[in-house]
Parts: sequence; structure tokens; C-alpha cells
Amino acid sequence: MSARAAFEALLSAARDWHASVPALAGFVPWPDDLRYVPRPAHALPLIPLLQADPGTTSPQSQPLCDALRAIAPYAEWRHTYTEAEVGGDFLNRFGWFELAGPDGHFITHQTRMTVGYWGPNLYYDWHQHEPEELYSVVSGQAVFRVRDQTDETLSAGGTRLHASQQPHALETRDHPVLTFVLWRGAGLADPPRLSA
Ligand code: ZN
Repeated sequence: MSARAAFEALLSAARDWHASVPALAGFVPWPDDLRYVPRPAHALPLIPLLQADPGTTSPQSQPLCDALRAIAPYAEWRHTYTEAEVGGDFLNRFGWFELAGPDGHFITHQTRMTVGYWGPNLYYDWHQHEPEELYSVVSGQAVFRVRDQTDETLSAGGTRLHASQQPHALETRDHPVLTFVLWRGAGLADPPRLSA
């Protein structure tokens, strides 16, 4: 399968996922300006980990999980953070890529869709960003933290909303987690930053 065909298959699975999870469909409509652009793959150490163990799926999330494992070698994986900020173990077992957005494999200016993977027993420290955000768990499990709210442990199909500039954190324990994340509002092209 060509990279483009793999990305088109992934986009189709993501669209089905968006339509099947009410919180996602209610957060932002599926964009109508998506345009594929070839981007060079960028490999990170998480790829074989994701392919070997994405964590437990649901029947609804299985097709998206399969498409994400298939796309892994073609994706432009990113870290954003430095080893000084998050540590070497974190960088060896974490990565994300922009499926669609201002700087994604598909260009859209209506939302930003990213995919993130964390191996077991990682702590993603408090961070924040201007756009509102809706996490959905595709496979595995993680604890989602928002300041002044109760922690929530989410598995496949679970969602969590983060308001603009609201600090949040994520922790994996015995399982990895694979997430599909939507942003909306101003600042779609800006990276998150660790909270002060
Ligand atoms: Zn966030």
C-alpha cells in the first residue's frame, strides 16, 4: 500500500470513529476542507512498541487502532518536548503526529486531529494550550487529570474535555494508551507548553 493510500484508509477509519463517538461529533464537525499533502516520514522509537502492544480496543475502536498501527512507519512522528523537560525514558516510549490540521498529513484550518501514544508507566506532566481539546482513547488506558477536578481513568471509547489554557496531565500505569485528539478554536498551529 502506498503512503497516500494508507493515509486515506486511516482518514476513513478516523471519520467513522468521529461519527461513532457522540462527544467527538459534538465537539467539532468533520472538516470539509481536508487536502492530502505528502510529508516525509519521521520515525521515533515508539513505533515498534505501538505495533506490538497498542492496548485493549473496543469493537468500535478496533478499525482505527488497526489503521494507526499500519500507518506508523509512514507518519511524521514528533516529540515537541526535550529530554531536559520530560526525560529520556519518556521520549523513548512516547510520540504523536498530526493527522490533519494546519501542519498535518492532511491540511485543514477547521480543527486539528492528532494521535498520541504513551507506553506503560509514563507521566505526562501538567501542560496547557489555547485551543479547547477533546481526548478520545482508542486503545489501552490512562489516568486523565485536570486541575480541581476528579481524576478519570479512561479506556477505549472514553473522552475528556480540556478548556482553553486549562492545565491537564496524563499518567499511564500497567497499560499503554493510544489517543485520538481534536482541537478547536484559536491557536491550532501552536504547540502545547508545560505549565509553570
Ligand atoms: Zn492538551
